[in-house]
Amino acid sequence: MPSVDIEQPDFCVKCGYDLTGLAERGRCPECGRPFDRTTGEGIRGAEPPKIRGLRMIRRVRTLVLASSAGGVMVVAVVVAWRWPSHAWGIVEFGGFIAGMVLLGAVTSFVYEKDNLPPV
Ligand SMILES: [Zn+2]
Repeated sequence: MPSVDIEQPDFCVKCGYDLTGLAERGRCPECGRPFDRTTGEGIRGAEPPKIRGLRMIRRVRTLVLASSAGGVMVVAVVVAWRWPSHAWGIVEFGGFIAGMVLLGAVTSFVYEKDNLPPV
């Protein structure tokens, strides 16, 4: 989805304070770090820490889901090993659960960069 904003927002490189609308150069009102919009000094485009944190949480969610799928499959195989008469059913069921969780992991991965809240 392309952004409708024409002006690229600027953020303090140190604390992530939104410097949009302030003078070309000066000091961050939040932490006092000097910035110069003409050179890009002290300016970070796009991504404040809030967004970065959210992105990281989503990455962790994906990894947890993916490893859970693997874990379910390992448990299913171990249980099947100890219960040979039902081995196939257990592996099948475990595979089904693992598949569902894995689908969740893939969905999580696909939407990692989607729907980040507006700054
Ligand atoms: Zn700052």
